[in-house]
Order: sequence, then C-alpha cells, then structure tokens
Amino acid sequence: MAEKYLAQPDLNFIKEVRELGGESLNKCFQCATCTIACPISPEDSPFPRKEMIAASWGLKDKLITSGDIWLCHECGDCSDLCPRDAKPGDVLSAIRSVAITEYARPKFLAKAVNNPKALPFLIGIPAIWFAILAIITMTAGDTMTKIFHGVFGDILGGRFHWAHAHEPGVIAHADFFSTWFVDLTFVPTAIFATLVFALGLKDFIRNIHENAMLEGKTNKKKIEIAGFLKALGKVIIPVLKHDKFNECEADKDRSTPHMMVLFSFIGLFIVTSIFFIALYVLNSHAPYSQINPVKWLANISAVALIIGVSLMIRNRLAKKDTQLTFYKDWYILGLIFILAVSGLLAELVRLAGFKTGAYFCYYIHLIAILNLFLFLPFSKMAHFVYRLVSMAYAEYSGRKY
Ligand code: SF4
Ligand code: SF4
Repeated sequence: MAEKYLAQPDLNFIKEVRELGGESLNKCFQCATCTIACPISPEDSPFPRKEMIAASWGLKDKLITSGDIWLCHECGDCSDLCPRDAKPGDVLSAIRSVAITEYARPKFLAKAVNNPKALPFLIGIPAIWFAILAIITMTAGDTMTKIFHGVFGDILGGRFHWAHAHEPGVIAHADFFSTWFVDLTFVPTAIFATLVFALGLKDFIRNIHENAMLEGKTNKKKIEIAGFLKALGKVIIPVLKHDKFNECEADKDRSTPHMMVLFSFIGLFIVTSIFFIALYVLNSHAPYSQINPVKWLANISAVALIIGVSLMIRNRLAKKDTQLTFYKDWYILGLIFILAVSGLLAELVRLAGFKTGAYFCYYIHLIAILNLFLFLPFSKMAHFVYRLVSMAYAEYSGRKY
C-alpha cells in the first residue's frame, strides 16, 4: 500500500515552472479532462492531472523525482482539450526543464542555459576559444611542430605530425583549426558531458525508483542492473521509431522532424567516429573525396538535419497560439539550425574554392558544436536521455505506459 506523502510546498518552484513555460498553471480547476485525453497515460496513477495539482501546490520534490513527467511526449492532446486553457503539456515540459536543471551539475551552467542574459557568454567563450586556436594554427605552425614532436614524438613513434598533410593547393579546414586542437577540445567536452549525465542519472534513477515505491507504482524492491539493461534494450526500438509520438492526435506531425533530427545526429556520430579512426589509426587525412561513402552519409545527414530542424521551427511557429515556445526551445532549435547550416556551408564553400568563406563557416560550425555538446546535459536536448531512462524504468518496474 502507498505511504502517506508529506507536502512541502516550494514557492520558488512554482515561479520557475511559470517562467519556463508553465505560466498557465494556475488556470487548472482539476477537471481531469487532460488525463482522459492523454493517449499514452497509464491507467494506474495516470497523468497529467495529478502533476497539475502537485505543480500548483509547489511540490517540487514529488515532481522532479517522478518518472511520469518524462513519459509525456509533449504531444499537446491534453492542452487542446483543456477547458481552462491551462496547457498541461506545456506545464509538464516546464517541470522537465526544472528537473534537468536539478539533476545536472554544476548548477550555474544549468541555470545559464535557461537564461537569455547568459547567451552572450555561452557563445562568446567558445568563440574566443576557437579564435585563439585559429590564430595559433595559422601563425605558430613551426613552434607547434617543435612542441608537438618534442612532447609526443617518441610516444607516437614519429607516425603522427602536428600538421596533417594534404595535397598542395587544396583548401583544408585543418589549416585554419589544427585537427589536434579540435579533437583536444571535443574529446574532453564529450567526457565532461558524459560524466555530468552519469552523475545526474545516478540520482535520477534512484529517485524515480523511490518515488515509484512510495506511490505504489512498482512491486520491485530494488533495481537490478541486468533487468534494467534488458528493459532498456526493449524500449530502444520503439523510441527510435517514435511509436509514442504516433499515438498522439493533435501534434502527430512532430514525429517525422524529430526522427529526422535524431537519425541525422546518429549518422553524424557514425561519420565522426569513422573519420576519427581514419585519422588517428589509419593516418588518413581530410579533406576526403566526395565519392567516399562516409562523405555521402555526412552530406545526407547534414541535409536531413537542416530539413528536420526547419520543420520543427515551422511547426512551432504555426502552432504558436496553442503551443507556447520559450527561450529554452528557441535556444536549442536555433543552435541545431546554425550547426547544420554552417556545417554544410563550410563544405560547399570549400568545394567552391572560397577559402575565407569556408574558414568562417567552419568557425561558426565549431562554436555551435561546442555549445551544443558542452551544454547538452543542461539543455532541452537532455530530455532524450532522461525520457529514455524513464521509459526503460517504466518497462522494468512493470508500469504500463
Ligand atoms: S489542466 Fe485543464 S484539463 Fe487538466 S485538470 Fe486542469 S483544467 Fe482540467
Ligand atoms: S502532452 Fe500529450 S503525452 Fe503529454 S500529458 Fe498531454 S496528452 Fe499526454
């Protein structure tokens, strides 16, 4: 039987939820139409009405430790039918943003990502960093060669060199930003983002399990790693296929652009991994031929990413009366759009022989990538990871969803 819950209202939480997109929260009069309307809510302890009550009472602990807020796919069916225009879909989205900020650390980065006033710093710091790297690459090649061979020469057996060779006269982005600099920036960034996610998910999984036991949503006493991983494997395919999106009515058309963006990132990840191995294992340097199949995958992924994110922006603009879009949404959509367009332009302008233009586009591209990956665990993009884990937990715990 579920235990009693001691309410601890947090007024600051209500303010945060309202600021992050749940400004209509107080309009709710608890009719439960939203819960009936939601196509993916479980029968046992369904959402989002109970979350609307908890949010209006400021029950932060109860909400950010709940796996249910992540089972919502923000389809908007409930918001469409809410007689009070309380927009429960947007309220749940705002609660998820607060939860991301709560689990990610350091907290100041999480708060900065949701604060438009911090945007100049989020862009300015990577911009200055890459400008310094470009200046060193272009003006201190001889010094860097000496340092590189002095420090790494013996370790790497003379197999690798500071400057990556390519045919004379070819425009190569590596002549503007050393590939070593780029990788020495992004590898630690990826490790940092992974660690932030790992620490956040450790607390998250423990919390949603405790919450599920407290609310009587599971019979499992503890989380067994093997069983949880099996559940994770079971939900991966439905997640990739966006099955839950397709159960929605009001916003069914979100499924295609979301899939395009997701699969584009998967494609670009595969491309980056292959070229990383090509460079550091096979000693094969960019620029690579356009008839290389990995290049095809890169170009197709880039085009799909531009189309996917453009459709997402168009959908948001078309539905601005029914689905509110906030800074956190525009931040991530704008960033992905700039990343995709600058990446494709860097390639096209390079092929057209316009060296300065190619370098400039590549500069913008690197700033956007660093911004996206450095702040990934703090931005709205983190929802993919938390939702995946929540769905795996729901599968593991026997919760029908
Ligand atoms: S959010 Fe709207 S539909 Fe849901 S309980 Fe409140 S008033 Fe009713
Ligand atoms: S936005 Fe969609 S998935 Fe989320 S609670 Fe409302 S109806 Fe359910």
